[in-house]
Amino acid sequence: MDMDLDDSSAATSGVQKGKRLLVMLVGAPGSGKSTLCENVMRASKRPWVRVCQDIIGNGKSGTKAQCLKSALSALDGGKNVFIDRCNLDKEQRTEFVKLGSPQIDVHAVVLDLPAQLCISRSVKRIGHEGNLQGGKAAAVVNRMLQKKELPKLNEGFSRIMFCHNDAEIQDAINTYNALGPFDDLPHGCFGERNHETKIQAGIMKFMKKIDGPSGTVPKESRVQSPAPHQSSDRTNHKFDRQGDGIGSTNLSEKQEKGNKETSICPSSDIPTLAFPSISTADFQFDHDKASDIIVEKVGEFISKLGNARLVLVDLSHGSKILSLVKAKAARKNIDSSKFFTFVGNIVNLSTKGGLCCSVIANAANWRLKSGGGGVNAAIFNAAGADLEAATRARAKMLHPGQALVVPLPSASPLYLREGVTHVIHVLGPNMNPQRPNCLDNDYNEGCKLLRQAYTSLFEGFMSILKMHGNELKPSQMLRGSDCHLDNCKQDSDQKNKRSDEYLLENSKKSRCSPVDTRDGEAVKGNERSRAKGWSSWSQALYQIAMHPERHKGDILELTKDVIVIKDCYPKACKHLLVLARAEHLDCLSDVREEHLELLRRMHGVGLKWAEKFLQEDDPSLVFRLGYHSVPSMQQLHLHVISQDFNSTHLKNKKHWNSFNTAFFRDSVDVIEEVSSNGEAGIHDEGLLAMELRCHRCRSAHPNIPRLKWHIGSCKAAFPVALLENGRLVFRPTSAMATKP
Ligand code: AMP
Repeated sequence: MDMDLDDSSAATSGVQKGKRLLVMLVGAPGSGKSTLCENVMRASKRPWVRVCQDIIGNGKSGTKAQCLKSALSALDGGKNVFIDRCNLDKEQRTEFVKLGSPQIDVHAVVLDLPAQLCISRSVKRIGHEGNLQGGKAAAVVNRMLQKKELPKLNEGFSRIMFCHNDAEIQDAINTYNALGPFDDLPHGCFGERNHETKIQAGIMKFMKKIDGPSGTVPKESRVQSPAPHQSSDRTNHKFDRQGDGIGSTNLSEKQEKGNKETSICPSSDIPTLAFPSISTADFQFDHDKASDIIVEKVGEFISKLGNARLVLVDLSHGSKILSLVKAKAARKNIDSSKFFTFVGNIVNLSTKGGLCCSVIANAANWRLKSGGGGVNAAIFNAAGADLEAATRARAKMLHPGQALVVPLPSASPLYLREGVTHVIHVLGPNMNPQRPNCLDNDYNEGCKLLRQAYTSLFEGFMSILKMHGNELKPSQMLRGSDCHLDNCKQDSDQKNKRSDEYLLENSKKSRCSPVDTRDGEAVKGNERSRAKGWSSWSQALYQIAMHPERHKGDILELTKDVIVIKDCYPKACKHLLVLARAEHLDCLSDVREEHLELLRRMHGVGLKWAEKFLQEDDPSLVFRLGYHSVPSMQQLHLHVISQDFNSTHLKNKKHWNSFNTAFFRDSVDVIEEVSSNGEAGIHDEGLLAMELRCHRCRSAHPNIPRLKWHIGSCKAAFPVALLENGRLVFRPTSAMATKP
């Protein structure tokens, strides 16, 4: 018999009659996994088995395969199983999740306690089963936590419960202890941290109206968080879910049915456009014809969308248009993971429906103004004045058939609360005589315009995808944009604003080629630099470096080699640029050994400014100094950036990843590489498309607003690699010590 099978004494004789549970514990060493198991096994009415890798080999540490085998045999024997191992990344969890079946629910309980607490507990403990204690524990725990990847429902869990402190762990213990042999726990995600207190309060209020099932989940309400990949509690269905079967999506419901193979997942990792049916409400367009056109257009675009998906949304449970579209889409065999219908309010799909949609369509009026009723009023109200201003800056009106893509300002409540990054206004044809431009039942023209409207809408969505996707070719980037698709006016700031966006930056480099005076011995990286061309606005830093006398107001420091300026679009509370004043030194790939002295000077000046901020402004700031592998602006410039990333200018994945992946080359490393290899490594632009991860605890986040919430409170230690070699500058004394 396997020594690892730790049968619950309270219920060893019992064989589970109802559904069995496989509960995967997820947490660092020291987070309290084994204690949780012991507590449940001591008091539970169900028979439990604890599968622990630390003791699975006859009391000694064993393998994952052994754990899987033990878990399977316990489940087959009618027991419930705790998987007591760290399970901190998806790969570690996958095989265990596969043990789930219609008779076996797979849950995760995440013990997401502060890293420091786990470390100090691990260090202090004695007699640990896996001998992870004492001095070595700190490094091991720290390393493990850097790889931490919180579980998501779409991995196959039917329920995930997050615990952030001992009280919440006790709640989890009580929850499992209270389970009788036939009880089920609600499916969904519970307790994921969210720092927007307003929403928490709203959700809690909402949850108070709901009775917990079987009385087994005493404190669920505390934990309802609106994270986009969450499913809601099953009771949400009463409110805004259609739940009427195939084709129409109801995430929790599908999970409740044990439909694990469903490919529809709530994850915000999947770019999603939610759109209302255009013209069928107030504009009185025939529903049958409209549904034909929706299905036709969806069918046309679906294959062009890559992994993105489209969701037709309606507020009403009895929506005729949803039923028609659903039936017709099924008949046309449209992939239901790529296109489905959803009952919910388009302005709170994430918080109320658990469906995160980064882009939503608005059935707009021709004046692009708030007002009227329905979707238009709801979206303008929910998005606040920011949407009106952003819309106005792009266009004054729309014609039927047109669409206008508007990036949502990051201060907009819709952006902050729901993670919506873009609104696409669409104007459809009107058949209502009481509204402007009525087509008097001319369905030839009407259908043509409705087709155009959906084409514009989906093309608008594609343009957003292209801008955010790393597969985009520079030439296409020029066309993509915060684009409206038709002849709407672009205001004069727009050009300037774009200089702040990486999305268009590659296009600059595909333009005319300036002369590079150096000889032909240049190595790979330099070829890129030779071929590059810089548009006039990407030469702003170059102009400052070459003509400082024209930019006196912008300059913080001027020496014969360098100029220090504030970054015009700071991505953090403190963000400066140290510009080299040398000619023909456009970017990092131009740097050679002869520039070493200059690099050191730039570094020294950058450090001096960081220290000044630490001394005079805020000693708690942390700075990093470095270069972008492929800059957007001409003229070698060193970023001196505080690590709070607290800035409204930090808006997208590329902004974040340009400072928080290997794309960002630390100044100290650049100096080291140039002195040993004669040049610095240039890291791939593909890094800019990587998933969003916290620069401290490395946790992954679905979108920038969520990431910002997280980093606003993340106090985890910085990864070891950043702490080494003076890559981070904490305060004057340590900063001075790091000068290379
Ligand atoms: P990079 O991608 O390394 O070229 O970064 C260029 C930086 O320059 C970005 O952080 C921009 O926010 C900033 N920037 C763009 N235009 C200006 C400007 N006219 N003055 C100061 N900073 C600018």
